[in-house]
Amino acid sequence: MNDFKLLIQAARAARKHAYAPYSNFKVGAAVETKSGEIFSGCNMENASFGLTVCAERNALGAMIVTGNKSVKSIAIASENGVPPCGACRQVIWEICGEIPVYLIDEAGNTTATTSTELLPGAFNKDMLT
Ligand code: ZN
Repeated sequence: MNDFKLLIQAARAARKHAYAPYSNFKVGAAVETKSGEIFSGCNMENASFGLTVCAERNALGAMIVTGNKSVKSIAIASENGVPPCGACRQVIWEICGEIPVYLIDEAGNTTATTSTELLPGAFNKDMLT
């Protein structure tokens, strides 16, 4: 199991690589699997704004491509420790279920919440049947 600090460090390190030339709002995210692996991602903007992908979804994609879908927690680093957007909340819920979500600001202050607190009454795949 990785130390909580490593997850935070990974999110903050990923943030440094964010491609955000339009908003200049850089975000890094890191997910820790139940087996202790950490995968990170940063936001990636595009001149065609609708193609922008958030850090959280890039981090989850980096994990998914390895075949791993067992998430223990996720950390999200930004200038002011903002929570994930609505799209990311839905994706986090689908892939991770109920997990701790750590929000980190520029100074390293961390706020702990959960995926359920962020998306109460979530739409999920069970509703498709
Ligand atoms: Zn998002």
